[in-house]
Amino acid sequence: MLKVSPVRAFSDNYIWLIHSPLDARQVVAVDPGDARPVEEHLFANNLQLGGVLITHHHGDHVGGVAALIRQRHVPIFGPAGERLPVPVHALREGDIARLPSLGLEFEILDVPGHTGGHIAYVGHGAVFCGDTLFSAGCGRLFEGTPEQMTRSLAKLAALPDDTLVYCAHEYTLSNLAFARAVEPENEDTRAYLEECRARRARNEPTLPSTIGREKNVNPFLRCDRQTVKQAAEARAARGLQSYAEVFAVIREWKDGFIS
Ligand code: ZN
Ligand code: FE
Repeated sequence: MLKVSPVRAFSDNYIWLIHSPLDARQVVAVDPGDARPVEEHLFANNLQLGGVLITHHHGDHVGGVAALIRQRHVPIFGPAGERLPVPVHALREGDIARLPSLGLEFEILDVPGHTGGHIAYVGHGAVFCGDTLFSAGCGRLFEGTPEQMTRSLAKLAALPDDTLVYCAHEYTLSNLAFARAVEPENEDTRAYLEECRARRARNEPTLPSTIGREKNVNPFLRCDRQTVKQAAEARAARGLQSYAEVFAVIREWKDGFIS
């Protein structure tokens, strides 16, 4: 199994460091929005940066890349469909991010919705999904439509249940407060909330999650369930037909939800 270390950045970002299976001191940084905490972690743990993976163009995901590569010659991968501050190996669905000297390889999925060209990296039993899927939540629709986002989330939900989900933000507790409002009777959500509260009280990340767990607790992956559909219909005060319609109501509800 992949060794992955979290580096905290800003108020709630995680910059994931993926350790090479061939040499655990070599790491690849995912979405380094800030160089400082990454440099500090590398130094303190005697690690070397061997590459960078970027999921989308937002500053809290790319802001540290230029500083990190200034003194290093390492491969940088990123979405083909977005404008980024540094040149990258541009990737889209079907492509593979290959880091052969580190023994790492990731398949690319196009997952637009949060941004227009957002990609996810899938490999070694894990997915690095940036701001598309959060534990018990999903990214806001800054550049995409509900239809796009539901298709993107369906691609992630189709991964094996035991796939580890490395999201870019620690939003789980507030997402679960909302998930409880949508599905107050969901026993999995209640139990998971307890577990996450305990982890946060110990100052531990709630992540990674798994695809199997998300299918049980994440309302945005459950818009075909009667419970979620009925909650959305009550909220909208009208009947909702498609998955994307239910999703759109839930997403808007969440945007204005104060936990
Ligand atoms: Zn973002
Ligand atoms: Fe972000």
